[in-house]
Amino acid sequence: MKCIFCKRVKDSHDHLFFGCELPGKVWNRMKNLVKLNTAPNCWSEILDFMLRRPINKSIWSILQRLVIGASIYYIWQERNLRLFQGKVRSIDEICYMIQDVVRLRILGLNITDSDQVLEAAKVWDFHVEREKVIVLLPFGLVLGISVAIILLGLWTGGSFLTRLMLMVWNLMIRDGPRSVMIMPARNRG
Ligand SMILES: [Zn+2]
Repeated sequence: MKCIFCKRVKDSHDHLFFGCELPGKVWNRMKNLVKLNTAPNCWSEILDFMLRRPINKSIWSILQRLVIGASIYYIWQERNLRLFQGKVRSIDEICYMIQDVVRLRILGLNITDSDQVLEAAKVWDFHVEREKVIVLLPFGLVLGISVAIILLGLWTGGSFLTRLMLMVWNLMIRDGPRSVMIMPARNRG
């Protein structure tokens, strides 16, 4: 059976992923969005390439694995749509569906905060939200500190009291630098 996309070459896995022109264009566009510019275009070589890379929880590693999975799924789906239902979608439409499903999968993930996350958020159009970490001090300690502050404040005048109150407030509630929550971009309906 001939390939449904180019109708020239025998239908095979290596040709479909991503030797043929249309799947190759989809793959090339998607791999550039997840910093896989140097990845090969042949299925078996992509597997080798990915196995040699560290699998970790960094945002780009997660995006890369999602994009590979989604690219294969939607190209296989497109092949079957054309073959069995006679429907045709454009490269733009296929890429849009891949991007959308990948974006949906990463929403709600809790990941380590880094410059990479902010960079990925720009490319992939999502928003990151820092979680507030509230440090609760024991009641007795808070009471002791408050009494000391008031006494010191009365002794030295108002401005010292204000500065100390701000310092205690900063101690109790601060931005947590450890993790961020991925949220839908605000400008997306
Ligand atoms: Zn082909």
